[in-house]
Amino acid sequence: MSLSEFSLIDRFFAAHAGSRADVVTGIGDDAAVLALPPGEQLVAAVDTLVEGVHFPLSTPPNSLGHKALAVNLSDLAALGAQPRWATLALTLPQADNTWLEAFAQGFFALADAHGVALVGGDTTRGPLTITVQLLGTVPPGQALLRSGAKPGDQLFVSGTLGDAGLGLRQSRAAAQGPKPDADLIDRLNCPQPRVALGEQLRGLAHAAIDISDGLLADLGHVLEQSQVGATLWVDRLPRSAAFQREVEVSSADWFELPLSAGDDYELCFTVAPAQVESVLTRAEALSQPITQVGEIEAKLGVRCCHDDGRAYNATGRGYDHFA
Ligand code: ADP
Ligand code: MG
Repeated sequence: MSLSEFSLIDRFFAAHAGSRADVVTGIGDDAAVLALPPGEQLVAAVDTLVEGVHFPLSTPPNSLGHKALAVNLSDLAALGAQPRWATLALTLPQADNTWLEAFAQGFFALADAHGVALVGGDTTRGPLTITVQLLGTVPPGQALLRSGAKPGDQLFVSGTLGDAGLGLRQSRAAAQGPKPDADLIDRLNCPQPRVALGEQLRGLAHAAIDISDGLLADLGHVLEQSQVGATLWVDRLPRSAAFQREVEVSSADWFELPLSAGDDYELCFTVAPAQVESVLTRAEALSQPITQVGEIEAKLGVRCCHDDGRAYNATGRGYDHFA
């Protein structure tokens, strides 16, 4: 490591790393030493953002700092885990102080909000690539898995769906078209991972997943791993005020975006009827809106339908990097 890389790490990362009593040794040694709470299980997630693949070149650096951590927080939220420690591998085309300042600001604002300490990382030169690893803990056997859904469960999602996808489309069209809606761009660039909700669902939900690739695609993973099917009520998918301003009820987008657009980072989870009341109470206490959007059934596959019982044929399939 060169001196300038060292001062870069010091100035932008070590100085803001945050501290937790369970960080025995953080940034500055060859590896971090972390004290696991006795008896708890370690939960680990890692996600990479590549310029041009996961975000457009125009994305502001503070949003990138936020989003790189947010996508990992969302994965831990889906398991009901408590996030604790992060490492950050940054590949940068050059050491641009203004960029680094803004990136670190976005990263640490979210890290501080969730009590996450940055405990190490790696800094290299190359095409802009951001990898965050997040470590957290969960009481033994209590992690929410994709495989636990049971016929009869009610199917819920948090927040609203389709906003980030619509924001992305608007930002791509912004060169020629109208100015993108600020609320939708905020949903795209600054997703709010549902960590508190995930922790509250522990011991209540049967299965959970975070919606990164679109509801149909991610629900599909739950159904496959649980060996069950579902009916989805497409009229009841939660749509934000911004979404309702921008999209006509009569358009295909009204259904396709909430079903298939990615990047919303809401939670999708299943709850046995006997636990629904408790889940609603806990979500209410967090001021976290949740909506029942369907039911788990023994018959495999997804059946989308309108409230009047008519079938809805979904066309989108969610985002697949290798499709
Ligand atoms: P090594 O060569 O032993 O792998 P480095 O020289 O890469 O160590 O890093 C020195 C210290 O700075 C280590 O503690 C490492 O975890 C930390 N570090 C490097 N890059 C980052 C980064 N982008 N964010 C946070 N910590 C970092
Ligand atoms: Mg070393």
